[in-house]
Amino acid sequence: MELEKLVRPNIWKLSPYSCARDEFKGRPASVFLDANESPYNNSVNRYPDPLQEEVKARLSVVKSVPAENIFLGNGSDEAIDLVYRVFCNPGVDNVVAIDPTYGMYKVCADINDVAYRSVLLDEGYQLNAAKLLAAVDNNTKVIWLCTPNNPSGNAFPREEVEKVLNGFQGIVVVDEAYSDFSSDRPFRVDIDRWPNMIVLNTFSKAWGCAAIRLGMAFASTEIIGLFNKVKYPYNVNALTQRKAIEMMQDLSRVNMWLSQILSERSKLMPAFADLPICEKVYPSQANFFLAKVKDANSVYNYLIDHGIVVRNRTRVNLCGNCIRVTIGTPAENNELMAALRQYKG
Ligand SMILES: *Cc1c(COP(=O)(O)O)cnc(C)c1O
Repeated sequence: MELEKLVRPNIWKLSPYSCARDEFKGRPASVFLDANESPYNNSVNRYPDPLQEEVKARLSVVKSVPAENIFLGNGSDEAIDLVYRVFCNPGVDNVVAIDPTYGMYKVCADINDVAYRSVLLDEGYQLNAAKLLAAVDNNTKVIWLCTPNNPSGNAFPREEVEKVLNGFQGIVVVDEAYSDFSSDRPFRVDIDRWPNMIVLNTFSKAWGCAAIRLGMAFASTEIIGLFNKVKYPYNVNALTQRKAIEMMQDLSRVNMWLSQILSERSKLMPAFADLPICEKVYPSQANFFLAKVKDANSVYNYLIDHGIVVRNRTRVNLCGNCIRVTIGTPAENNELMAALRQYKG
């Protein structure tokens, strides 16, 4: 793969903004008069580390990915937008994605004026690599895959994802936002095998930190370098970096939440499937499941009236009369089931 051919020419040539903290590095100093900051320490008066080195060093251990293969952004959403800004010439290039999937890939395509080609998943929300690859043309720069997929919840078979990685000369993004909830081998540990692969992870789901806005991309050092060139210089603020470090100092909490959610998932899904209103619960390797009910709008409104919010997906392709339910605490899940058992249609 020749990376230069995939990157927008203006980005390939770009000399990035050089911030004060980039120019000074590594040498001992105690007087900082270089960045026009306030000298008065209130714990946030200094600019944060633009490359988040301490966070990456810890993350590298937790995620089994070398620090130089990690990009950190303001949520995965920043990385999604950067994929377009780095690789796709507006008004010229296109991307290919599965349908249904996470909505931000399309929103960012529209914002960046990049044509978005969606390819319907097969029966049971299965990935068909050949169908996806058939939608590619000479201007296709990126293929978007999300596994476990949102909103369907299923993880695609590894062989099928590998067919896409091996069969496409451009960038393949594998969004593994939900891989913590799946027993499959994550693709992030295999970034060496596919120089065209970018894997996304997030602190927003299993890590319980949606509010700090911290997302990760794992890729070759060359791709990480391009992301770093294009991102805002201080894209991850100091409070977020500090909270992420704190979270990684005590993994036991995250692991406890994770096992609780998996255990609740294994109870809630069959219980939901037994409800008279439920037509089907789709398999899930995520912290949510998709269920087909008799009348999604009516169930959705009924739950709202009982103070319970689920996601109505009925207008999404292939998701007619489907609702998406996030696994909550045992008490929340019981409340959901108690309300639905009283539902009279
Ligand atoms: C929730 C989610 C994310 C996370 O986005 P953040 O910006 O990191 O909060 C990414 N991808 C998918 C598919 C998601 O469902």
